[in-house]
Formats: sequence, structure tokens, C-alpha cells
Amino acid sequence: MKIVDYLRNPEKTLFSFEVLPPMKGQSIQELFDTIDQLMEFGPKFVNVTYHREEFVYKKRPDGLLERKTTRKRPGTVGICAAILHRYGVEPVPHLICGGFTKEETENALIDLHYLGIHNLLVLRGDPIPTEKVFTPEPGGHRYAVELLEQVVNMNRGIYLEEEIENAVPTDFCIGVAGYPEKHYEAPNLQSDLRYLKMKVDKGADYIVTQMFFDNRKYFDFVEKCRAIGINVPIVPGLKPLTSKRQLTMIPRVFHVELPEELVKEVEKCSSDEQVKEVGVEWCIAQSKELMQHKVPCLHYYSMSKAASVRKVAEALF
Ligand code: FAD
Repeated sequence: MKIVDYLRNPEKTLFSFEVLPPMKGQSIQELFDTIDQLMEFGPKFVNVTYHREEFVYKKRPDGLLERKTTRKRPGTVGICAAILHRYGVEPVPHLICGGFTKEETENALIDLHYLGIHNLLVLRGDPIPTEKVFTPEPGGHRYAVELLEQVVNMNRGIYLEEEIENAVPTDFCIGVAGYPEKHYEAPNLQSDLRYLKMKVDKGADYIVTQMFFDNRKYFDFVEKCRAIGINVPIVPGLKPLTSKRQLTMIPRVFHVELPEELVKEVEKCSSDEQVKEVGVEWCIAQSKELMQHKVPCLHYYSMSKAASVRKVAEALF
């Protein structure tokens, strides 16, 4: 089923979460254990992130450094197929521009279509750690909207080779990312919203937001979206804090602010176990208020660890 069909006028707020593929060479069992612990809350979909290749430097026997590329968390497509097969719940693979030619993207979309996976979250991807700005793959896409157009074309039966006769159209439902506190590269929120609207006008079915810790940011964002004619469902993304380290890591990596009240509570904690309690409480309070505002779904960033999301879900779903 298409995610957008779940999101249109649900009787009550739905539950969903995001997981990461295991690190290369690790067992998938840990990921299944995480999902197992969250299935009783009836998720309508499970997102699986995509991770692009990174440069790593390895020392050769002669002492010189050799640059290699490696994907540290491969397996998104296979994991999505396994989730569909094992749990019968809709998997949503993330699809990124970075590191892929259009041809490779087309092949990935064909694989997903054959596997019966009909939902995608279409993203640009971040710059690789060794680069300051995002560099598109030669023959690939620069912005998420371009990748989205490729998917929309395939949904119309238009593949890269235009001469394919009677090409079978795919039927992907497409989600895109939105940033209540603006994307870090955007010069201002208005311009970021303009490009978000472009993604919706070109065929995005719904939006999932970057994490936020102050609901007013989400409410303002939705209001601004509606004011410029973005009328698709906007799913809030939430993350329970789990460690003191995240006080500095989350703003640095995700470019979002943590409210002073939350920061003070975390600073009082003497262990990460206490931080987890504060994080769960804060996330439950955020979730309750969002539910009162009848958001279609609450989407949790689990980082593949079930414990905190489970406590939040126990209180709500
Ligand atoms: P875009 O929509 O392309 O926007 C990027 C920037 O360019 C913005 O500043 C925007 O305002 C601007 N812009 C957009 N279109 C244009 C245009 N046509 N002309 C000029 N400027 C434009 N990353 C991963 O690598 N893997 C994942 O699995 C992953 N999952 C994510 C899930 C969610 C819910 C979110 C919110 C983010 C996720 N990310 C993931 C991170 C994401 O890839 C980064 O935030 C990335 O920097 C931007 O992606 P985007 O799709 O929002 O890009």
C-alpha cells in the first residue's frame, strides 16, 4: 500500500520509525531484534536509510596511504525486501543522489519495483566527510528534485532509454525531506520552502521532517508550507535524546536547536541512563501535543536502537 494512502485522513495518529542498515560485516539479527521490539505498536511503515560510499585511507605494506572507497552500511534494498517478507509491513527505502549515476538509480528502481517495494524517500544525500560541499556524481543528480523527476518519469513508463517500447510504468509513492529549521545550506527558510514546493509540484506525495525538539518549529513550518500551497501530508520526525554527547552532536550534525529547558534537564543528569529518561519524557510530551494537533503520523528516528522509542510508543500507541 502507498504511504500517502495511510497518511490521508487516518482515524488516529499513526506510528512509524527509521532504522539504519548494520555496519558492513555485522549481523542483520540485531536490526531484526530492534524491529521485533517495535512491531507490537503497529507501525504502518519502516524507513531504511541509504549510505553513500566514503573514502577511507588504508596503509599499504610500503607505508604509503592508499585511498579506497567503501560503503560502510550497505544493504538498504535487501533489508527492505527482508522487512516486507518477514513483517508484511511497508518498507520505505531511502534513495539518494550522491554516488549514483542516473543509470544506476534506474537499475535500483527496477530492482525495488520487481521486489514489490512501492514507497521511497527521495533525498539528495550529504557531502562525503572529506568534502565541504555536495558534489554530484558525474552522470548523476545534483538535487533531490532531479532524482524525483526520474522516479516520476518511470512512474509514467519513461525510462532513460527513450526507445523502449511498451515500457512497464513503476508505481512509486514518493516522500521527500522538509526542514522546519531550514536546510543548513539554504540562505533562508523562504528559499528552502520554495524548493520544497518545487519537489511537491513535481510529484512528491508527502513530506517527512528533519527532527525537531520544539513543536512550535513544526507548527510554524506547516503554516508556512500551507501558505505557499504545499498541501501534502507533513509527517513530523522525532528523536528521543539518549546521551549527553548529543547536546553538541545533534546541533552540529543535524543543524537543529535544542530548547534551553531540555538542555538544562540533560545537564543535570549524571549518567546517560538518566539522559535517556529525560529524552523519553520530552519525546512523549512532544508526541502528545502533536497528536492533539492531529498530525497524520509520528515518525521516530530510532538509530536502530529500540529501547527509547519503545518506551515512547508504550505511552502513546
Ligand atoms: P534537496 O531537496 O536537494 O535540498 C538541498 C539544498 O538545496 C537545500 O538547501 C535546498 O533549499 C536547495 N535546493 C533544492 N533544490 C534546489 C534547486 N533546484 N536549485 C537550487 N537549490 C536547491 N541522507 C543520506 O545520505 N541518507 C539517508 O538515508 C538520509 N535520510 C534522511 C531522512 C530525512 C527524513 C531527512 C530530513 C534527511 C535525510 N538525509 C539522509 C539527509 C539529507 O540527505 C541531507 O539533509 C541533504 O543535505 C539534503 O537532502 P534533501 O533531499 O533535502 O536535498
